[in-house]
Amino acid sequence: MQTYPTGYTESHRIAEKIFREILPRHGMTVREEQIALCHEVLDTLYNKEISLCEAGVGTGKTLAYLVGCILWQMHRPERMKLPIVISTSSVALQDAILTEYLPDLSAVLLGEGIITAPITAVVRKGKERFVCDARLAERASLVQPSRKRQTNSLNIAAHILDMDHIPELSRYDRCRICVPQSCPRDCFLRLDCRYQQYLRDSMKPDIQICNHNYLLADASHRLEDRPLLLRSYQALVVDEAHKLPDAARQMYTETLSPHNMDELCLLLQQAHYKDFARQLRTAFLTLSFSCTQGVSKLRRKVSEPFVLTPFRRAALIDCIALLQNAGELPDVPRYLLNRLEKQKVSCAFFSCKCQRASSTSTTMPMVSPHSAQPAAAYRSCFAVRCGTPANLRF
Ligand code: SF4
Repeated sequence: MQTYPTGYTESHRIAEKIFREILPRHGMTVREEQIALCHEVLDTLYNKEISLCEAGVGTGKTLAYLVGCILWQMHRPERMKLPIVISTSSVALQDAILTEYLPDLSAVLLGEGIITAPITAVVRKGKERFVCDARLAERASLVQPSRKRQTNSLNIAAHILDMDHIPELSRYDRCRICVPQSCPRDCFLRLDCRYQQYLRDSMKPDIQICNHNYLLADASHRLEDRPLLLRSYQALVVDEAHKLPDAARQMYTETLSPHNMDELCLLLQQAHYKDFARQLRTAFLTLSFSCTQGVSKLRRKVSEPFVLTPFRRAALIDCIALLQNAGELPDVPRYLLNRLEKQKVSCAFFSCKCQRASSTSTTMPMVSPHSAQPAAAYRSCFAVRCGTPANLRF
């Protein structure tokens, strides 16, 4: 006889009731695909599986997985309850889940006696999206009162923590009032700071909503034993999962392009560092050549598994050594130093990944959008893309 996990049958029964009786009473139509999707979500959660679902526009997928998650979480033993993470691609969907779907669903389920307390949720974002009270006060004191639009945005920032919701806030002001990478220990506002309060509050809610980049950043932190961005969670829903690989590529790709290097060498030449420009160009051309060597013309438009040959290693080391020496050139303008530093960081990053990848794996793994460890998969993804011009990418 087949046995089911605790709450399994009850959750499916309540899901039927919600979609066939309760929600239609609140004006929603019965949609078979939506009900089927909710049952699929419940099966997946109870069986601790991974499921990849495709739902057409208008199926009501958001409500389907929210109901599934809430019913599953409701039947978890109290001591095992941890948040559910919902990762989406767009800010609009995050806001809709937080301000429309969940409050409405919570009110209906409370009214029907299915849940006993409102569903709590929070949107988790990078700290650069939030207002730092100390920096805001400093910035506001510098802005001329005659600049009405700017003053208005800064006044609104005093009441709205999330900068995505502050109208007409310029990029310049955004950078100046956002939460710093690390808060000073002796910040005089720490106890009353809204951002610190937000961090404390965000630990409590049952549902944590974030975007794909934040999810991947959290996965990287977990992989590297760094402090977690998201509280430990027990289930993950990746909505708009088709955009997850793009987010991973955007986050974990580093490019060394001959085009950038050419431009840099030209600037060095114009600034009268001709010898250095020539050496750098030769070193980078050697690196490009080492990467395209052995890759047939027909296959140059696709990513190839990267193998760290002695030639490639030597070319990479040469580039890094030259870029390191740039600091010793006399009177290099700051803008050039910055460009050289950026290239050095890219080369060093690439070199470090080369070493790591060659000591672990030299093949490019397939990454599925519903991979439990998307960051892990992408961090070991290592390829040379050989187009024209040849780019070195990680
Ligand atoms: S604790 Fe951090 S975020 Fe808060 S006011 Fe101080 S510097 Fe800004």
